[in-house]
Amino acid sequence: MTAIAAKKLGYHTFLYCPKGDNPAEYSVNEYIFGDWDDNKKLELFGSKVDVITSEFENIPAKTLDNLSKITKVYPSSFCFSIAQYRNKEKEMAAKSGFLVPKWYRIKSLEDLIKYSKILNHDCILKTNSLGYDGKGQINISSEINFKKIWSEINFDDCILEEKVNFDREVSILYAKSLNESECFFPLSENYHENGILKYTIAPAILEQELEIKLKLTVKKFAKLLNLKGLLTIELFQRNNDFIFNEIAPRPHNSFHWTIEGCKNSQFDILVKSIMGQDINDQVVGENWKMINLLGDEVENLKFFNFHKDQKTHIYGKKEVKNGRKMGHITYPI
Ligand code: AMP
Repeated sequence: MTAIAAKKLGYHTFLYCPKGDNPAEYSVNEYIFGDWDDNKKLELFGSKVDVITSEFENIPAKTLDNLSKITKVYPSSFCFSIAQYRNKEKEMAAKSGFLVPKWYRIKSLEDLIKYSKILNHDCILKTNSLGYDGKGQINISSEINFKKIWSEINFDDCILEEKVNFDREVSILYAKSLNESECFFPLSENYHENGILKYTIAPAILEQELEIKLKLTVKKFAKLLNLKGLLTIELFQRNNDFIFNEIAPRPHNSFHWTIEGCKNSQFDILVKSIMGQDINDQVVGENWKMINLLGDEVENLKFFNFHKDQKTHIYGKKEVKNGRKMGHITYPI
């Protein structure tokens, strides 16, 4: 969707990714298929483009770092290296002033047993890296068979995180342009099922005072990252407190509603910011709902008739998998 926005803004687009199920290849002007460690192909790609960004969070930070020696890369490899490790993003969140759930690094069965007890066996075991959409997570709610859990997670670098009793989940999206202009989007309120985003309502209603304070903390985080491009922060809200969950230095599913809802979508703002154009706060006149089409829901669109003005986006992924994000629908509410 970034390539679609870039084309609309008049830019020539070039995709680099491993050969596979990549819908972006139908939207770009050119592409090269290659592995993330194929330095020759990466060098060729880097020599052909003015600026690189990534919609995929788990691109190796080392690959981005190498590319940044040839051309501009935004957000930087540093931003991705923080977002790819739960311990690093939590440490930086605390430094920025966010409340962070209690968490412990878990590298053995003994760690798991010890820290689960400290967290009253009311916690979540998460892989420290490579988790997404609820994958790489095991819920712990009693003193259960830890040996089984440890072999199930099958990852030797994990964290154990206190379960947060939240009122709601929200996400906030900030952007910083190369020309130093910056912007926020209105907040999203998010509803998950089995760790996967099911739907988002926007803008989330929030007291002005809380919003101002939250935005200052987000900007502190962005400053520590030396951000250029997009930064989404997912949060739990409990009363007047925001508790940090995770960051994404890329377009985020909970802001797909901005395609219809804002003058500039999150994809437009990403492109403008990494091209050094002026960006400014995005406002929204209506309320929007964005529903994800997960797995085979994409084959049953007749059940998804909500509004005469709804807009359905199908991503064109070839393989339908249980829980896989295949598209989304946005409509005014
Ligand atoms: P994550 O991949 O960490 O964003 O987790 C996916 C979803 O699981 C979140 O959006 C929450 O709905 C839930 N979740 C994750 N961590 C916690 C937590 N510490 N306490 C309560 N719910 C959580």
